[in-house]
Amino acid sequence: MPFSSLGLPEPITRGVRAAGYSIPTPIQARAIPLILPGHDVVAAAQTGSGKTAAFLLPILSRLLDGPRALRALILVPTRELAAQVEENAHAYSKYAELSVGSVYGGVPIGPQERMLRYEGVDLLVATPGRLLDLHGRQSLTLDEVEVLVLDEADRMVDMGFAPDLQRILRLLPTKRQTLMFSATMPPELNRVAKEALRNPQRVDLAPPSKPAESIEQTFYPVPRHLKVDLLHELLDKSEERSALVFTRTKHGADRLYRQLKARGHRVGVIHGDRSQGQRERARCWSPPTSPRAASTWTTSPTSSTSTSRTPRRTTSTGSAAPAAWTPKVTRSPS
Ligand code: AMP
Repeated sequence: MPFSSLGLPEPITRGVRAAGYSIPTPIQARAIPLILPGHDVVAAAQTGSGKTAAFLLPILSRLLDGPRALRALILVPTRELAAQVEENAHAYSKYAELSVGSVYGGVPIGPQERMLRYEGVDLLVATPGRLLDLHGRQSLTLDEVEVLVLDEADRMVDMGFAPDLQRILRLLPTKRQTLMFSATMPPELNRVAKEALRNPQRVDLAPPSKPAESIEQTFYPVPRHLKVDLLHELLDKSEERSALVFTRTKHGADRLYRQLKARGHRVGVIHGDRSQGQRERARCWSPPTSPRAASTWTTSPTSSTSTSRTPRRTTSTGSAAPAAWTPKVTRSPS
């Protein structure tokens, strides 16, 4: 099914073509026809499924007509995701006269205030805390919001944003369309969903624990003290030019960064205690051209980076496999 049969207007399908997409992903094929006519939607969608375009394309289509005002609000858990969603919105609206912006914490509030007050946006991507700060300073009004998106809603709740979400819901017009994208539905999120959504249509493509088809997973049972040695071997032998390594804690990310660096890997580190400048430098760092000089990012799970959007392979080391995870290939270190 081509994008043109989804009922999207011409400027938006042109933007999609320019982004290089020809066929909608399953979540896009299912969700776009529900979102376009104005239904509330709850979608079980994981990173990598194409969920961002699934909500952005119909929202941008709606914004083509009507007054210029802040009419679409997208709430996300992290600044990196905010920047990515904004980047995608710019790409898809390349042939439309729409204004798109993002606001998030960890950077000075002044430029964001000026953007909202003096330039104005039709679509705003925001992390909840910074949005409330800006609202408290009367830098924006939410009275005209017609569409609200809760993206990676389970992560927002995990990160303690549920009270902020509830405050934001009370500031929004009750007559609006609400879309929620989440990989899981913990009880606290269920409460937020009940308050936020009206008769939502459900898009449930796959059980949330099922990994994306394109990802090969390998689990290496290994004693704790040999984990770094194993990782070093894997990175050394790998044909891949770059790798993204997740650790459980920020401290663990820093320690692994030092250990890999000491073994001669080109490595960067990104997590919640790093400054915005350090995060940006890690995000924009291009991998080396030689496959032998693997570059590696270590990151704690609360930081998301664009490099993790379409992983081809994930490798996990540990003494037991996580409960909801079935390895396709299991190898022991030799
Ligand atoms: P997301 O799940 O929204 O983070 O998207 C994952 C990746 O898929 C991003 O790099 C998108 O640019 C890309 N993508 C989204 N929709 C399509 C599509 N229909 N065809 C090809 N790539 C896509």
